[in-house]
Amino acid sequence: MTTPTLSEIAAGVHGYQPRALPAEAVTAFLEQLVEPVTGTESVGLFAALDRVLATDLVSPVSVPPHDNSAMDGYAFDGAQLSRLPPGESQLALRVVGTALAGQTAPVRAGPGECVRIMTGAVMPPGLDTVVPQELARVDGGTVRIGAGLLRAGDHRRRAGEDLMQGRVALARGERLTPAALGLVASLGLPSVTVFRRLRVACFSTGDELLSPGDAPRAGAVYDSNRYALLGLLARLGAEPIDLGVVPDTPAQLEAALRRAARQADAVITSGGVSEGDADHLRSTVQRLGDVAFWHVAMRPGRPMAVGRLRGDDSDGAESPMVESASSAISSMGYSYQNNSKRFSADRLWFGLPGNPVAAMVAFLAFVRPALLRAMGCTRPAPPMLRATATEALNKKPGRTEYQRGIVSTAPDGALQVRTTGHQGSGVLSSMVQANGLIVLPHSRGPVAAGDAVDVMMFDGAL
Ligand code: AMP
Ligand code: MG
Repeated sequence: MTTPTLSEIAAGVHGYQPRALPAEAVTAFLEQLVEPVTGTESVGLFAALDRVLATDLVSPVSVPPHDNSAMDGYAFDGAQLSRLPPGESQLALRVVGTALAGQTAPVRAGPGECVRIMTGAVMPPGLDTVVPQELARVDGGTVRIGAGLLRAGDHRRRAGEDLMQGRVALARGERLTPAALGLVASLGLPSVTVFRRLRVACFSTGDELLSPGDAPRAGAVYDSNRYALLGLLARLGAEPIDLGVVPDTPAQLEAALRRAARQADAVITSGGVSEGDADHLRSTVQRLGDVAFWHVAMRPGRPMAVGRLRGDDSDGAESPMVESASSAISSMGYSYQNNSKRFSADRLWFGLPGNPVAAMVAFLAFVRPALLRAMGCTRPAPPMLRATATEALNKKPGRTEYQRGIVSTAPDGALQVRTTGHQGSGVLSSMVQANGLIVLPHSRGPVAAGDAVDVMMFDGAL
């Protein structure tokens, strides 16, 4: 028997039923399929927020550049603390000078002496300890320090304690958060080399869809997915390309998919993947590329497809994506044979469900990590935490469920989570109320009140 192609697996030919893939298999598949973009560019720091570093950033300097005081107080040689004469309970030091932040001329102090010092000022040569002014008794030109209040080295910041010259300060693949930008600036660097922005095209399919501002029409609904998805893409730092609402006809779907594949690195569509739909979207993607799978064992969002579209720069060469897809597919127990349509420059295509909650959940669970990976990010997994369910949750084994959750702090300080109530896949208000998704894994059964559950926090994603 010949081994089926990706498309044939999805179509259920050769005896392969289009069975729903477990969510973990989808994650594993995308991990192997998706590679970072190759283009990089140098951008100024203010433009670098949320971009992904394309090279290791090696620190050209140490931060801080010199030992300095962490407090306003008096600097002295801490060895004197352990050499107090017997019976003496205080160290008495004469103030011989002042060290201010930014000042370069070193002030010198020897045994029995100290230097008035301000936060951030360079530690004078030979001095390693600072007594904060609130712990010092000052009278006239003498500072008295109670024995036992301090240890040698206290309140001094060491050169390089934040970042050491020559070491990797930020690794390739790190996303530039506000904290990371501050860190780059602390090295004195005005620009960074980042991966080029990922272009992601998005359109909604459905003859029933109106756009906001259109007059209501019997049987029609407003397109909400494009607004939610384009917002999610913007939060991700991708460059969204809005291709509007596309009617469910083969010609218009084909034109939109071709345009998307020309302009974008990845294409996201919503709608047109349910069982009952006319098969236009699937057959069109198969004609323009190929479809890996069509169903995921998840709720909400069982109809959820992943495939590829040929780009214009197709040259018939073998694609590394085809090879990695092949090994990912076979590691899931399917066999795979290269399609006759070989192509490079393939665009990832995500066919999200039409139901608005399902579309957002599928994006957060699979598309977001895959796009982050394509953006070059080495840590694309969303932040997860554990919380105690305050109520029983219905759950069937055999599918991963993503219930909209509200995480809060219990009176004892522990994290607890409840659902937003009605979990219908069209109830978009539940996504607004929630602050995370309760992720109930594939084989888990019902959850009792008091059980621990994992929550994927919306955090900065949404
Ligand atoms: P479909 O996957 O096309 O069968 O759509 C499933 C359900 O989601 C139907 O009730 C559609 O009307 C609805 N739907 C599809 N696309 C959208 C959209 N862009 N915005 C809001 N609802 C949608
Ligand atoms: Mg539809």
